[in-house]
Amino acid sequence: MTGTACSPTALCAFAGAAQILARLRTLSAHAPQSLVIEGGTEADRKTAALAWAATLNCTGQPEARPCCQCPACVQIAQGVFMDLKVFGDQEKITTDEVREALPEWGQPPRGNGRRVSIFFGAHEFHPAVANLLLKTLEEPRPGNVFVLLAPQRERLLQTLVSRSFVLTLPWPGPKAPEPDVAEWLAALLNFWDTGQGWFERTGTKGAADRALALRLLSACQRELTLAVAGDTQGSPAAKRLARLGPSGLRRFDLVLGQAQEALNQPTVMPALVLDWIATAMIAKG
Ligand SMILES: [Zn+2]
Repeated sequence: MTGTACSPTALCAFAGAAQILARLRTLSAHAPQSLVIEGGTEADRKTAALAWAATLNCTGQPEARPCCQCPACVQIAQGVFMDLKVFGDQEKITTDEVREALPEWGQPPRGNGRRVSIFFGAHEFHPAVANLLLKTLEEPRPGNVFVLLAPQRERLLQTLVSRSFVLTLPWPGPKAPEPDVAEWLAALLNFWDTGQGWFERTGTKGAADRALALRLLSACQRELTLAVAGDTQGSPAAKRLARLGPSGLRRFDLVLGQAQEALNQPTVMPALVLDWIATAMIAKG
């Protein structure tokens, strides 16, 4: 399992950690049997999956899980925890591997937390593996949770996604937003100052699809990070965000997190989520 190992502190300190760990903590109160982690880089997804395993098995204070210090956290980071199973981090997952794990999934975990089974490269599943896993998820597996890692949910079997909660990590992107996203970002900030020019944009049929909304969220997140760090020299958007002040920036962080959640609901219209972001911040923006 050497491919899985990382330092324990890496589970608590990675890009966007505060927001992602807070969401994992919330999620752990009613841990979904299956969690899809999309977005980010492959390394980000791996770290988030291990952080999820640590959140579910940590023996530290509930509000500070994962603590990244207790034996469970340390062993999970090292990939040697008794209730951690990892598939496909070195080689493609085979049906035999999954079949061999079936008896164990029928048993509760050995420790007091959850047995976490992580599947790397879920977008590259052989159809037979995907089907076997799907059957596994259709049965109750007390104490067992499953994590599927893929760049985008669209690349997974739809039936697997529909049985899972989807966690979207900030998408990796170029330093500056691409021109179309930069234009949306500028329009959003302009709307905060003038109250104009936003609804025409989101109201244009087909303009704001889910992909664009996620890219805009990611751009907002990046500017927010710059604004929080006080690194606003090269970015007018970050400069504008910095004017929100510490509490406004925190609020924007929460708004972005909730918007991301909303975009995970297939029935929610992306344009409405964008309108909500624009208006949620305007009151005190
Ligand atoms: Zn811990």
